[in-house]
Amino acid sequence: MTTASPALAELAAELDTADPLAPIRDRFLLPDGVVYLDGNSLGPLPAAVPPTITDVLHRQWGTDLIRSWNDNDWWDAPLRVGDALGRLIGAAPGQTLVGDSTSIQLFTALSAAARLRPGRELLVTDPGHFPTDRYLAESAARLHGLRVRHVRPRDLDAFLAAEGEQVAVVSYSPVDYRTGELHDVATLTRAAHRAGALVLWDLCHAAGAMPVPLDELEADFAVGCGYKFLSGGPGAPAFLYAARRHHDSWQTPLHGWTGHADPFGLQRDYAPAPGIARARIGTPPILGLLSLEAALTAFDGVDMAQVRTKSLSLTDFFLRCTAELLADLGFEPVTPADPARRASQVSLRHPHAYGLVRALTEQQVIADMRAPDILRFGVNALYTSHRDLLTAATLLHRTTTTGAYDPTPPDAGKVT
Ligand SMILES: *Cc1c(COP(=O)(O)O)cnc(C)c1O
Repeated sequence: MTTASPALAELAAELDTADPLAPIRDRFLLPDGVVYLDGNSLGPLPAAVPPTITDVLHRQWGTDLIRSWNDNDWWDAPLRVGDALGRLIGAAPGQTLVGDSTSIQLFTALSAAARLRPGRELLVTDPGHFPTDRYLAESAARLHGLRVRHVRPRDLDAFLAAEGEQVAVVSYSPVDYRTGELHDVATLTRAAHRAGALVLWDLCHAAGAMPVPLDELEADFAVGCGYKFLSGGPGAPAFLYAARRHHDSWQTPLHGWTGHADPFGLQRDYAPAPGIARARIGTPPILGLLSLEAALTAFDGVDMAQVRTKSLSLTDFFLRCTAELLADLGFEPVTPADPARRASQVSLRHPHAYGLVRALTEQQVIADMRAPDILRFGVNALYTSHRDLLTAATLLHRTTTTGAYDPTPPDAGKVT
């Protein structure tokens, strides 16, 4: 593609040449000619996954059959993959479990938190939280006799000053999934704790994208999906973190047989397994778990601080491209320019967001949009290059100036 700005092209080349993570891109099977900026919705295929899954299918399942639960360590996979994932979210071993969806893990964490704070009546969540987080806050609150209060992270201090004594749990995400704004996790965690409340962090847009020192923060619970920045594959199992200091006293809401202290004793009554294992519910989804386990090897030898530095360099560069190439074309950046408040994506508001994203996709630049008018460009330091972002900005400039897109909004029910 002809370059709209030789100076930006030169800068992209310099930044990419100096990038210590550049070789990590080979750990992903990205199709030739595609610029993939939607890894915050579905991470691309890691090169380690196909050979692992071939082995799991043909040798482990096909040949070893049921013996694999022991011989190929299927039984321990939820805890083993949990520990591997825990390394990326600052969790010492034994506190992270993988299995089920984020939605189920949210329910488990919210219920457990509510029961650890009996007598407190409020469950605080963000009015801008992802829908499933809001819906599950309502479900858990109804079951445990709590009331939900919608409080924006920036208003938490004022709210806690007035009603903090009644708050059982604060359920937030570090990242606003639409705007890419990053909240101050440490400050919010401390504020909730000062009020005697517990904190649940939804790390869907943070795990694998930046360091999240859960143990150091003294977070209580955390959840997150395996298929965004962790690239575990469509519908990959999600994770649940519960801080060790709660392990003696926490109660999970769904008492499945695999979370029993003696699952093969087939006892009449439930007795919880010690530690994080009591959050196991049913038979673990082995194909998804082992895909995720292979996917996580893409992080081998990678320091999360390096990931964060590169991610900020990428989003910074893209903001610069948009300022230079998209000025006066109706775009408004909604992602904070302040790096301390910026997650691993850049969101731009434009009235024709849907048509523009579709036009980009047709030209092999894959991003997404969030209704009604936000274009989202997710970057992943493991495989995104500065050059990718210049390609996206150049194409967006060309598509907008030539009007080569359909400005009609989407039909209801489409995946956007
Ligand atoms: C992606 C995402 C989810 C997804 O939940 P699933 O149960 O995996 O569908 C939930 N919460 C947040 C904040 C997300 O970004």
